[in-house]
Amino acid sequence: MAGKVNDSPAIGIDLGTTYSCVAVWKDNRVEIITNDQGNRTTPSSVAFVESELLIGDGAKNQVALNPANTISDAKRLIGRRFCDSEVQKDIKLWPFKVIQGSDDTPKIVVTYKGEKKEFMAEEISSLILGNMKETAEAYLGKVVKDAVITVPAYFNDSQRQATKDAGTIAGLNVIRMINEPTAAAIAYGLDNKSDIVGKINVLIFDLGGGTFDVSIMTIEEGGIFEVKAVAGDTHLGGEDFDNHMVDHCVLEFKRRWNKDLTGNQRALGRLRFVCEKAKRILSCATQTSIELDSLHDGIDLYMRFTQAKFEELNMDLFKMSIKTLETCLSDAKMKKSCIDQVILVGGSTRIPKVQHMLQEYFNGKELCKSVNPDEAVAYGAAVLASKLSGNTEKSVQDVVLRDVTPLSLGVDVKGHIFNVVIPRNTQIPTSMSQIYATTSDNQSKAKIVVYQGERSKCIDNHLLDQFTVSGIPPAPKGVSKIMVYFEIDANGILTVTVGITSTGKIEKLTINDANRRLSKEVIEKMVNDAEKYKLEDQEFEKKAKAYNKLEDCVYTMKNKIKEYNIKKREPSETMKEMENAIAETSKWLSDNHDAPFAELDLKKMHLKFVCKPLFRYKNTVAEYN
Ligand code: AMP
Repeated sequence: MAGKVNDSPAIGIDLGTTYSCVAVWKDNRVEIITNDQGNRTTPSSVAFVESELLIGDGAKNQVALNPANTISDAKRLIGRRFCDSEVQKDIKLWPFKVIQGSDDTPKIVVTYKGEKKEFMAEEISSLILGNMKETAEAYLGKVVKDAVITVPAYFNDSQRQATKDAGTIAGLNVIRMINEPTAAAIAYGLDNKSDIVGKINVLIFDLGGGTFDVSIMTIEEGGIFEVKAVAGDTHLGGEDFDNHMVDHCVLEFKRRWNKDLTGNQRALGRLRFVCEKAKRILSCATQTSIELDSLHDGIDLYMRFTQAKFEELNMDLFKMSIKTLETCLSDAKMKKSCIDQVILVGGSTRIPKVQHMLQEYFNGKELCKSVNPDEAVAYGAAVLASKLSGNTEKSVQDVVLRDVTPLSLGVDVKGHIFNVVIPRNTQIPTSMSQIYATTSDNQSKAKIVVYQGERSKCIDNHLLDQFTVSGIPPAPKGVSKIMVYFEIDANGILTVTVGITSTGKIEKLTINDANRRLSKEVIEKMVNDAEKYKLEDQEFEKKAKAYNKLEDCVYTMKNKIKEYNIKKREPSETMKEMENAIAETSKWLSDNHDAPFAELDLKKMHLKFVCKPLFRYKNTVAEYN
């Protein structure tokens, strides 16, 4: 990175389940940055292969060959517990291994460089974020530090914390986390500035690869974005549709050949890959075919897949999305007729049936497809990143955001009843408190257990953390009071403070155990590991390049001897020496695939020295320097 200066702009990153996208505000507009393959979105995939780490397109393209070591769904694991029912369901479908780590943390197990390695979802996500950072650095020619990262609106506190940690591990300073639909609304608002008169109500329908969010917002002329309500499902998206297609093909294979391919991970990986492609085709064609040679036990799979079948397989999920939308409208206390614009975001909103059902729900209203469903989220994040890092341009500075918390937050009270302190859809940042009385005589301690969710029994909600406050002065039951103070910052992240009102003793809840918030030390270790992998990769690349150069050099010299009939032109002694050196290097190359860079370089120098006479001929090997 030598020569780069550190005044680079902050970037916006949409860290998606299946694809990620990075954008930056530059020259008075948002630029979506293309990756090294020239693509505007990058698969959120990481592959551990024999000797290197692949991220993005390279990882996704080799998934069928190396399914057990290719990780594509870190976002479905991040901030969740191993015993979470969704995690358990996913594990059954994933070709890679997930085990239960300490504190019920899910750990992904891969084989890398011949060794078994375990990774947390945060580490995998950090590799993707690091790749996005590098993409931006290559484009800007500067080191990038600050970033706004987007999260599904319906992510809970643990999932948000874990995503923020992933950013830190990637070497980013996460200046803000923003909800995906809110970011998309900014993109819509800025693109349609001149058409927004007064205040309009918009509904963002964001159906991506792994998550689903609905957000109802008002956009005010001038750039004030106020979220009224959010609803969603952190486990509903394109991958679920793909899985249903895969299940259908597995059944069909069984029906035709009476063979079960569920244990064949490679076959399932290949099948999932073609099903996703077929699904995309079915968004613009009424039928397509699945064609896989020698899928299992040497048997091919050729079958037709119709749009009607695809819709039938996924109808339950489509209906679920409409139900969620209804909840969101009711939370926002709005009738559907109040919605001025329905904005489609996320790749899965290209599915005709989804669009059709949505349009039908809104009594035939035209849906807004003017924002790019794959890029709008990163676009909005880049605008906010620019604003937060001090861009004084009016269009950026005018943007004002008022977001909400997606899920209620509260504590366990007597009888394991969930007592809400901050109700869902409260505007953030916010702080609220509740006072609780002791429940027994001379009670000296109180256990504070914090949950997030909408159910009345604590057990049905998501446990965030717990701790015990001690030092309550002796008093009859109900006399001593404990104040619980909840604070949510602009990122949607919670801090809890507890105080004994009579003594003034205050304790801050450090959320780190129950919700597996990573400690500073663990994050530091992960940052170092990530740096180590990066260095290893750079070393590998350097070695691979040197190897290829030496191989090319051998090849060119051999050809030169033939092409210029050099045997007849040079003395036989010189000829013998050169031929021996070429043959020896060629053999050495095939025996030393893993040779270090320095040795490869030395070999090349030696070969060039011996074969110096060849330099006199036209198009010699002079370029191998
Ligand atoms: P996102 O998370 O917004 O990048 O969305 C990615 C998801 O959109 C993946 O599951 C893709 O398979 C899906 N997707 C992208 N294009 C299409 C399409 N034309 N039809 C159906 N699904 C699509």
